[in-house]
Amino acid sequence: MKLKTDGEWRKALDPQAYSVMRQKGTEMPFTGRHWDRHEDGDYFCIGCGAKLFSSGTKFGSGTGWPSFDSPANKENVKLLPDKSHGMERTEVVCKNCGGHLGHLFNDGPTPTGARYCINSCTLAFRPKGKKKD
Ligand code: FE
Repeated sequence: MKLKTDGEWRKALDPQAYSVMRQKGTEMPFTGRHWDRHEDGDYFCIGCGAKLFSSGTKFGSGTGWPSFDSPANKENVKLLPDKSHGMERTEVVCKNCGGHLGHLFNDGPTPTGARYCINSCTLAFRPKGKKKD
């Protein structure tokens, strides 16, 4: 895909998604549109449309952010070391558009042990068999 300029991202994304995806912000927990979503379906990058996560890997983490134990396709996410805010974390980025999505932790409750802690505002949900909302 053609890389967008900062000004183009500002126009393409709503203010919250812009601050999270392009400025590595974090949405307030328990406020997003997906943390308490339980329907079957797929989650796509709001910046570029890449398929990132699926409902079958989603679990209730109690954190207030949608949490997954694995990506829909490992090829579609990029993991980067993140030492900001005095913590050592692993940042999760959309490989296609470079948008910040959230962080990966190794304290997940399922056999993968992974907890992809993702900001709702970075994801568009498509219920199984329907169009994206
Ligand atoms: Fe993307």
